[in-house]
Amino acid sequence: MTNISFPEPTITAVSKPFWDKINEKQFYLQQCEECKQWVFYPRAHCPNCFSSKLTWKEASGQGKLKSWSIVHRAGHPAWQERTPYAVGVVQLAEGPSLLTHLLINEQELRYQLPVEISFQQLNERLLPFFQKKGD
Ligand SMILES: [Zn+2]
Repeated sequence: MTNISFPEPTITAVSKPFWDKINEKQFYLQQCEECKQWVFYPRAHCPNCFSSKLTWKEASGQGKLKSWSIVHRAGHPAWQERTPYAVGVVQLAEGPSLLTHLLINEQELRYQLPVEISFQQLNERLLPFFQKKGD
């Protein structure tokens, strides 16, 4: 196949701190200083109490698998060579959920499977994928 590059994440002023930390192999989430709720995806205001006092803090990178799907026909040609692969929703230990690429065999996927972050190089950038805990 020709050399088609993977699509890059869209980085905004609000989400830039998240992606900068990912590139350092660190997983940071916003936490609200008013109500203490953890926030993901990155936002300007807390979705719980609307405070703008959100602080970036290191998160555990741990979670449990909530839902998943096996992709056979990728939404972008660069990903087609990697099919079939799994994507899923991980409920992070801090509370919020994250849609992510899963580095888990189809046979091992199950509800509430403990998972952890795995930083994967794609093009010039690291991306936060998830794997089975302890792999
Ligand atoms: Zn809040």
